[in-house]
Amino acid sequence: QSFAALGLSPQACAAAAAAGFSKPTSIQQSVIPTLAAGRDALLVGPTGSGKTAAFLLPIMSQLEQAEAEAAGERTPRVLVLAPTRDLATQTAGVSRQLGRHMGLRTRVVCGGLDRQRQVEGLAGGVDVVVGTIGRILDLAQQGALVLDGVTHLVLDEADRLLDDEFSEAMTALAPYLENRQQTVFCSATLQPGFMDFARTVTRNPVQLDL
Ligand code: AMP
Repeated sequence: QSFAALGLSPQACAAAAAAGFSKPTSIQQSVIPTLAAGRDALLVGPTGSGKTAAFLLPIMSQLEQAEAEAAGERTPRVLVLAPTRDLATQTAGVSRQLGRHMGLRTRVVCGGLDRQRQVEGLAGGVDVVVGTIGRILDLAQQGALVLDGVTHLVLDEADRLLDDEFSEAMTALAPYLENRQQTVFCSATLQPGFMDFARTVTRNPVQLDL
């Protein structure tokens, strides 16, 4: 199997190759075709085995195809919500590694990091924002993070996100994310209540058990 056979754009395939990925992992083989087609999805299973690239590559692949329409726009088109700063930083690393070859810029927006630097970084133009919900909501409410252009939303390790505080913040954030076209949930398990929440944020999702 090659990345090209999974429905990724030539540029996304080139980015995978340039990042040193010679062939897709089995998780990537099962996830990429569905996500590249733009479907909402619930990815259920353990982390690892290239899960981050499994959602980033097909999302980035769609962005490039839409790039001409969005010419001049540098507000984020992808938002990845992570449960912790560590995971956000790690995911942003993979996003930078892949995005570099597609001209896509990644920024981390998390609590516990210098707020002013984040605001300045966003003002310089960004395509992918990876972060934690508190600071993202804060900067969206201040107008420093414009989310109107976000077409793709990922909730990474969503089972670790779902507490009352997150649900409250997500309810406040949702109105800023009304232009999204694809939502992807990643979760290690399907705990009770999870599907109810997932259904409020996704449209007719495909469930993929990893
Ligand atoms: P993850 O499981 O998403 O945390 O990814 C773990 C690491 O595997 C990351 O550093 C990726 O750069 C790398 N990786 C992801 N997909 C592939 C692949 N198809 N071939 C080689 N390395 C990969």
